[in-house]
Amino acid sequence: MRKFSEGISLYLHVPFCIRKCPYCAFYSVPMSNRELVGVYLDAVELEASKWSNWRTCKRPIRTLYIGGGTPSLLSVGEWERLKNILERNFNLDFLEEATVEANPGSLNEDLLTFWKEWRITRVSIGCQSFDKQDLLILGRPHGALEGMKSLELALVKGFHVSCDLLFGLPGQTIRRWHANLETALRLGVHHVSCYQLTLEEGTQWGKSPPQSIPSGYPFYRWAQYYLEKKGLYQYEIASFALRGFECSHNLGYWYRRDCIGIGPGAWGFIRGRRYKNVSSLKDYVSRLKEGRSIKEWSERLIGLHGALEAAMLGLRTRWGIDEIDLIEEFGKEKAQEVLLRLEDVPEHLLKKKPHKLVLTRRGMRVGNAIWEKLVS
Ligand code: SF4
Repeated sequence: MRKFSEGISLYLHVPFCIRKCPYCAFYSVPMSNRELVGVYLDAVELEASKWSNWRTCKRPIRTLYIGGGTPSLLSVGEWERLKNILERNFNLDFLEEATVEANPGSLNEDLLTFWKEWRITRVSIGCQSFDKQDLLILGRPHGALEGMKSLELALVKGFHVSCDLLFGLPGQTIRRWHANLETALRLGVHHVSCYQLTLEEGTQWGKSPPQSIPSGYPFYRWAQYYLEKKGLYQYEIASFALRGFECSHNLGYWYRRDCIGIGPGAWGFIRGRRYKNVSSLKDYVSRLKEGRSIKEWSERLIGLHGALEAAMLGLRTRWGIDEIDLIEEFGKEKAQEVLLRLEDVPEHLLKKKPHKLVLTRRGMRVGNAIWEKLVS
């Protein structure tokens, strides 16, 4: 979908958390001392100024996303510095959306006021659950009430508010999951992201998984039914929103919009090349100081590889794959290869409209099996 892929986005990774959650695969370090933040900001300033010399950066940024980690751990003073770094080095005058990720426990009124007076329009809050037992099992550094309070504070300030919730937790029941969804809706959030607990390599739970992890399927099916019934339509595998409150930054990601990723562990995508910055604050800082590359990995996704990635990302969304866009971008032969791989996916999982392929709700529930067809 061309309208989502145009323009350029900016992602900044803030790699600090209170402590590491046992299931988390995102790059973050415990904020052991405040001086680390100063060191991090010095390095971000160096990286941002390198980018600002590139022609790519003269283009107006369409969406900004500051994620982590826990960006709400930074103080207002540190945010002031971050704001100046970004304003000096990027063209933020035409932003359509600016999101900050926050966690209950560190989000406060002063931060929200600062963000509101700057350019931030959207706050995504990692509540994960409103159930005391779930939060204990997950090792979250906040309670259920703090989660609710954070959502309320952000809503009162007039932000578009998204709430992250996890399902398929050890010992979780559908009743408890339903109570979480109901609480988020009762508080009036505009957007809910539902993620299934996964045991990722390199995490504490990846090494020693907890007992009694239920199948995520019925939880997900319930979210699809209940959230849609309450007016939050599903526009992506994990994302539900009131109309007009979809996350434009993420839509850009799924439709392969150029995105500058800065900060340690950040991902970026520029003109068909995906890259990842080093996932180590120490390395990130020293490499920047020494003028060395901070890329840990980079790959140009062209030809069939690019077409398959575009198909996988597009199919995550409600708008699916547009065959004409695919042909225009990758050529007829590669587009046909993609379509061939999806040919025998049954109609109840993949709707085949003229020039379009879209996953059904049922298809979204078995997305992984469909990605396998694409990569096999
Ligand atoms: S707070 Fe979020 S980013 Fe930080 S460790 Fe926990 S899940 Fe990961």
